[in-house]
Parts: sequence; structure tokens; C-alpha cells
Amino acid sequence: MTDDQRRILIAGGGPVGLLCAWLIGRHGLPVRLFDNNSTLQLDLRAATTHPATLDLLDDALVGDMARVGLVAPIFQFWDRPSQKLVAQFDHAVLKNDTRHPFVVQCEQFKTAKLVLDRLQLFPNVESLFDHEVIDVAQSADAVTVQVREPSGTVSQHSGAYLIGADGGRSTVRRRSGIKFEGFTWPERFIVLTTPFDFESERGYCYRSYFADPGAWCNCFKVSADGPPGLWRTVYPTDPAQSEDNILSDAGVQARMQSFFSSPQAYEIIHRNLYVTHQRVAEIFRKGRVLLAGDAAHVNNPIGGMGLNGGIQDAVNLSDKLVRIMRDGAPERVLDLYDLQRRTVAIEFVQEQSIANKKRLEARDPEVRKRNLDELRASAADPERARQFLLRTSMIASQRRAEALALAE
Ligand SMILES: Cc1cc2nc3c(=O)[nH]c(=O)nc-3n(C[C@H](O)[C@H](O)[C@H](O)COP(=O)(O)OP(=O)(O)OC[C@H]3O[C@@H](n4cnc5c(N)ncnc54)[C@H](O)[C@@H]3O)c2cc1C
Repeated sequence: MTDDQRRILIAGGGPVGLLCAWLIGRHGLPVRLFDNNSTLQLDLRAATTHPATLDLLDDALVGDMARVGLVAPIFQFWDRPSQKLVAQFDHAVLKNDTRHPFVVQCEQFKTAKLVLDRLQLFPNVESLFDHEVIDVAQSADAVTVQVREPSGTVSQHSGAYLIGADGGRSTVRRRSGIKFEGFTWPERFIVLTTPFDFESERGYCYRSYFADPGAWCNCFKVSADGPPGLWRTVYPTDPAQSEDNILSDAGVQARMQSFFSSPQAYEIIHRNLYVTHQRVAEIFRKGRVLLAGDAAHVNNPIGGMGLNGGIQDAVNLSDKLVRIMRDGAPERVLDLYDLQRRTVAIEFVQEQSIANKKRLEARDPEVRKRNLDELRASAADPERARQFLLRTSMIASQRRAEALALAE
């Protein structure tokens, strides 16, 4: 076989595409990755990496992520109107379920950089930035992509398989005719980043969720450029409000003050607005085309599950592609990838992320009380806390995926 016949093509150099390139490339297989940006982006979205995901990654990579990020063993739920702490969960109760009974808060651009540094050591892995995948075609023997190069020239590249890791608006998914089923939330989510130290000033831990009728806030810490770090606060916005209004200084301050009233104005380092969806591709494998990460599934960020699911896809898919290309495993293992990862995307990530949002934003006083009582009771009972954390830390979904493989 020539390199063109063995090559794995990857569209998208976000954390998921880069991870696939590294995990496949380190076995000596030829890999060519395309990203439409000229360089890695300062993407301020994900930070939370859960125990189930950490368990799948190399110890050295996890060590580096913890070194440039923060280790967060606990998280809290607060009731915003009463300003009371409702429940605190400690991942320590998972000590027999995971090698990592904590979350690592590592900004996704740092994780992407750590992986890019590793894959650049392999001459068989080409990472081509400023290269946009614009079309896809496949035959029984090969898959081919059309790529717009920096000069504007369109070139053609062939390989054995193509991984579409090109994000929520995936060209690979669209050009392969794969539907992206689900819905879009009417409210956009705003992320406001501040150096205000919520731990020393207010007693919040590195991951704190605030329930408020019709609203909510996630407040979490990232290490940024090093101590003292920054705090990111995430809120829903009113669909009727204009983007200018939402992002204005007055709008931003009013939002911060409504949750965290303070005599002083907050210093805001970043303000970012996101449209948020709940969608899963109708299929993760179509012949020689495989979808992974946001190209395959998107969800709201409450609970921090989107990229975690994407990393879990990358590990699962890369392992299967290596088994096919290096060890001669049958192609049908790729159908198992679809079964495992699509099932958990639907049964766990979609369900859990929607439930997380509904729990925080509930308006009905009875429902609010029930939700908060439930959290309180779960946190107070170690076995209930463990069951709760098995889901939030994505260990339960990973076990479900493994059970599907055993049943095959
Ligand atoms: C506010 C917010 C907070 C979040 N927090 C968390 C969290 O704490 N934990 C978590 O797990 N998830 C979180 N997420 C979700 C997370 O950010 C995404 O799931 C993650 O970025 C997906 O990674 P990816 O590599 O699949 O896609 P992306 O990061 O979108 O990368 C796709 C790459 O493909 C490139 N590309 C696109 N089209 C093409 C093309 N045609 N040709 C070549 N390249 C192309 C893009 O430029 C990009 O570089 C959050 C999301 C938001 C909005």
C-alpha cells in the first residue's frame, strides 16, 4: 500500500482533530490534518476535563494539563436568591471508580497546544494550517477531500479514511449529507471573564453553579497565564436583547451585579457570546467518513461535557483506526464506534446537559424546592453522592460505551 492509500485525513485542528492526529500518528501511520485557521486559536470555551476523560489520556499529558491548569476536586451548587450553599460534591468518593478523583480545569487552547507540540515530533504527521476542507467524495477504496490552500489554489488529497473534526458547522458532515438532528436554544450564552477573586471574596470553589428562577450562572476558575488566575462566569441572555446591548459595558456590569452584587464595577477581561445547540449527527460513520467532537454532537456547556465527549470520541476512534490500518482488524469495528459514541451522546450527554440547565433555571417554586432538596440529600449521603458524581464525571457513560463493545 502507498502512503496515499494508508493515510488518515483529518479536517479540523481543534482539540479533537489534533488528538486524533497524535493518537494515530504515534503508531507510525501517515496522517494529514487540515485546519482553516492560520494558527491555533485562543479558544475560550472549554476548560473542565472530567475524571472519565482523564482516565483515557496518557499520564504525561494529564500531568501537563494539571501543571498549566488547575485541579478541582469539589464543586458546589448555590441558590442565588438566598445566597445559600445548597450542596457540595467531592470527587474523592470516586476513589475506587477512577484514577483521577478530580476535575482538571485546563483551557482548551492549552490542551490543543500540548497535543500539537507532541504530534509535531512525528514526521509522518502533517498539520496543514490555513487549509480549508471544502468538499468530500468517497469510493469503495478511498476518500478524497478538496482543500483550499493559502494561495487560493484548490488541491485534492486522498486517504483511507477521513475524520471530520471540523466543529459544529462541519463541512465534512454537510458535504457527506449527514443530518444534524436536534434544536437550538433561543437564548444565547454569555461568558464574562474577570480577575475578581470569587474564592477569597465570596467563598466559592473553582466550579460553582448558581440556580436562579429563569436564569442561572456557572462560575469557574481557570489558571490563565498563571497565579492568581481568572474567573469565568456564564449566563443565559434574553433572546429579545440585541448583541450590542448584551455586550455593552452597562449590560455586562448589570449582569455581573445581578448575580454577584458588589459596590465596585467588575474588571472584565473577555466577553464572549455563544449560540448554543443540542444536536447529534444522525450517523457518526458513513463509509470512509467518520465524525468526531462537535462535528458529531453539540450541547449546552452546563456541566462541561462537550469537549469531554469529543476527546472520548477521539480516543475510541483512533484506537479502532489503528487496529484496522496496522493490525488488519475488520472495518466493521467502525460501526461499533458509531454505536458506542452516538448512544452515549444521546443517552447521557444530551440528557444530562439539558437536565443540568432545567435544574438551574426552574421557575416554579415547588420544582425549585424539589431540585435543591434533591441536591442537598444527594450530597449528604456518600452512596447517593457517588451515583450522582458517576454521571457528572462521565464515568457512567464511559462504562455504558464499554458495555456496548462487550455485547458485540
Ligand atoms: C461557553 C462554552 C464553554 C464550554 N465549556 C466546556 C467545558 O468546560 N468542557 C467541555 O468538555 N466542553 C465545553 N465546551 C464545548 C467545547 O468548547 C467544544 O465541545 C469543543 O471546542 C469541541 O472541540 P472540537 O475539536 O470538536 O471542535 P472545535 O474546537 O470547534 O475545532 C474545530 C476546528 O476545525 C476548524 N475547521 C472548521 N471548518 C473547517 C474546514 N472546513 N476545514 C478545515 N478546518 C476547519 C475550526 O477552525 C477549528 O479549528 C464549552 C462550549 C462553550 C460554548
